[in-house]
Amino acid sequence: MNLRTAPLNHPFETPPGPGEAIEVAAGILWMRLPLPMVLDHVNVYALDDGDSWTLIDTGFDSRKTRAIWQTLLDGPLKGKPVRRVLVTHHHPDHIGLAGWFQSEFGAELITTRTAWLFARMLTLDVQEKTTPETLTYWRRAGMNANILAKRASERPFNFADVVAPLPLGFRRIVEGEQIEIAGRVWDIRMGNGHAPEHATLWSSDDRLVIGGDQLLSTISPNIGVYATEPDADPLAEWLEACERLKVFANDQQLVLPGHKLPFNGLPVRMRQLIDNHHGALDRLLVYLEQPHTAAECFSLLFKRKIGDGEYGLALVEAMAHVNHLYRQDKVVRELRDDGAWVWQRKG
Ligand SMILES: [Zn+2]
Repeated sequence: MNLRTAPLNHPFETPPGPGEAIEVAAGILWMRLPLPMVLDHVNVYALDDGDSWTLIDTGFDSRKTRAIWQTLLDGPLKGKPVRRVLVTHHHPDHIGLAGWFQSEFGAELITTRTAWLFARMLTLDVQEKTTPETLTYWRRAGMNANILAKRASERPFNFADVVAPLPLGFRRIVEGEQIEIAGRVWDIRMGNGHAPEHATLWSSDDRLVIGGDQLLSTISPNIGVYATEPDADPLAEWLEACERLKVFANDQQLVLPGHKLPFNGLPVRMRQLIDNHHGALDRLLVYLEQPHTAAECFSLLFKRKIGDGEYGLALVEAMAHVNHLYRQDKVVRELRDDGAWVWQRKG
C-alpha cells in the first residue's frame, strides 16, 4: 500500500431514512430505497438542475418504492419535475422505476446502450419456469442438488417482477463524453465486470464521483457469470476497468456509491477492489490442486458461511473466478457424471 494514500472514511455516518434526503454537496440529494434482500437498500440521488431534477438510479419497482418516491417528490424534491433519469447500469435495483418516470412523468432516460438493451430484453423475457439452459448452467456450477430441485420446481425470479416496462427511446451516453447536470460538467467513464458498460460520472470542477456499483466502499461488487454467457470472463473485465479508472482517483473526491455510505479515499479503495480478487485467485489455485466444483469453492473465496439468501450470488461469483483461471490457462475442467464441471490446477 502507498503510505501517502489516505484511508477510507465516511463523512456521513447516518444514512437518510425512508422519504428523507441528505444534501451531500450543493444541489445534490442522497436518498435510499429499501430492497427485500440481504443487501437491504439502494442509494439514489437527485441533482438540482434549477427548474427540474436529474435522478441517478431509481430502486426496484414495487408499490412500496413508488410510494416512497411520491413522498420524496412532494417533500425534499419540493414538487419540482423530474426531467431526466440517469441509470448507471441495467441491474433491477438501479433501473427498476426508470420506465415509470418516463411514462408517468415524461422524464428522459439517459444510460449506456448495453444497459438499455439488456434491461429492455430482460423485461420482455418473462419465464414461468426456469429455462433448461439455466438448469444446465447451475448443474455445471455444481449447485447443491436440493437447491437445484427446489428451484426447478418454483417460478423463477423474473426481471419484470421488479422492473417497470421500459418504453421505447433513451439517450445514450458513451465513454469520454461530458454531460452537464446540476451546473457541473461530468466526465463519463465506463466501468465493467459487475455489469457490462456501467457508467460512472466524475465532476471535473468539484471532485464528486457518482460510482454506481462499480465503486463501493465496504462491500465488494458481485462479479457473476450467468447462463446467458456461461464461458464469460467478467473478472478480467472488472480488473481492466479498475486499473483504467484508478488513474482518475484522488483523496479529495467524495464518492457517491450505489450502496452503503458515501466515502473519501478512492485511491486506496481501488487498490483493494483489485487486490481482493488477486488474493482470491491465488487461494483458489492452491485449493484446485485437488479437483473441485465451483460450488465447493465458496468458503475459500468468501471466507465466511454462505446463507441461503446469498447462495445464488456466491455461485455465479465462484464461476467467474474459475472461468477466469480457465481463460488464463491455469486450470483444466472436466464434466462429471452429474453434469458439474470439476476444475483442477494445470500441471
Ligand atoms: Zn446495485
